[in-house]
Amino acid sequence: MSSTRPLPRSSVMAIEAYVPGKSSAPGVAKIYKLSSNETPLGPSPKAIEAFRASAEKLALYPDGSAVALREAIAKRYGLDPARIVCGNGSDDILNLLAVAYVGEGDEGIITEHGFTFYKIAILGAGGTPVVVREKNECTDVDAILAAVTPRTKIVYIANPNNPTGTYIPFSEVQRLHAGLPKDVLLVLDGAYAEYVTAPDYKDGMELVTQNENVVMTHTFSKIHGLALLRVGWCYAPAAVCDALNRIRGPFNANGPAMYAAIASIGDLAFEEASRQHNTKWLNWLTAQISKLGLRVTPSVGNFILVHFSKDKGRTAVDADAFLTKRGLILRLVSSYGFPNALRLTVGTEEANELVVKALADFLSGKE
Ligand SMILES: *Cc1c(COP(=O)(O)O)cnc(C)c1O
Repeated sequence: MSSTRPLPRSSVMAIEAYVPGKSSAPGVAKIYKLSSNETPLGPSPKAIEAFRASAEKLALYPDGSAVALREAIAKRYGLDPARIVCGNGSDDILNLLAVAYVGEGDEGIITEHGFTFYKIAILGAGGTPVVVREKNECTDVDAILAAVTPRTKIVYIANPNNPTGTYIPFSEVQRLHAGLPKDVLLVLDGAYAEYVTAPDYKDGMELVTQNENVVMTHTFSKIHGLALLRVGWCYAPAAVCDALNRIRGPFNANGPAMYAAIASIGDLAFEEASRQHNTKWLNWLTAQISKLGLRVTPSVGNFILVHFSKDKGRTAVDADAFLTKRGLILRLVSSYGFPNALRLTVGTEEANELVVKALADFLSGKE
């Protein structure tokens, strides 16, 4: 039967489009955006300088093979630059992996509270997302392994995960990998890896080095503070890089973003200061908000998940409305399977203190 207009593939129409965090609070003079896990410290001044300098070159195409950025990343982490692919944010890479490895009839495994973009990428590629249970709001290796079928092509986990902030230790990542068939690609999304200080955590670089079926992604959007520019990368087996390089946009990493990223990745002192700020305030927010009687999921990222009650006047939606009136913008996470929680990004000292004060007022019924 013919149609009167072009129709997208049915799996495309099964996608619920990604909804970004709110960024405004109507009628409020000063807002604190704590809804998108952006760094409160901004980017390295060196990155800003490099970005400004790139204004002189706007007429020129960027280097389509991102040589300088791949070399800078490789130098920073001791990797082979030939096994790095850069993209327009790590979302670009996460999507390209699905396009390259998942087709009609194939399955991709994601977890109950996993990053919602994985589902979009799998459906967009024509595949079927298979959602597995988590345990205590954390990736459950056994549940993933139990869900593998002959149709499984890819497994996506964010470690640490967004929006829970929980992580699995490297021993569990290794156990997951060991249990997967060799033709299933394991994607380790390390968007928040730089924030983690737990000694049993690793982003998985050595697993990538030693195997043909593991990819690790990183982003410049979080600790590097370059979310506006859109730049991310993966470290992957040579054959995976080859596949990605065939299907990616020829200039998928843009010039100003790459110049800023190169400057940023060399500024280790800035990265360390950002990590220290985060560790201090992550612990403080977790302790203070727990003291108010709200349950907080233990997080190693730059955000925490705060759980509210089902009682009228005390739900996450009520809390969100209350906080928004004070210019404090958090993230409702019902699309992640948490209808009664808010995700709070670690902010500046001022913002963090205002959030705790506002939550105390909300709970005590003050206006
Ligand atoms: C923020 C985030 C990303 C990064 O996305 P970019 O496209 O690089 O900005 C990737 N994965 C997760 C889980 C995230 O939370």
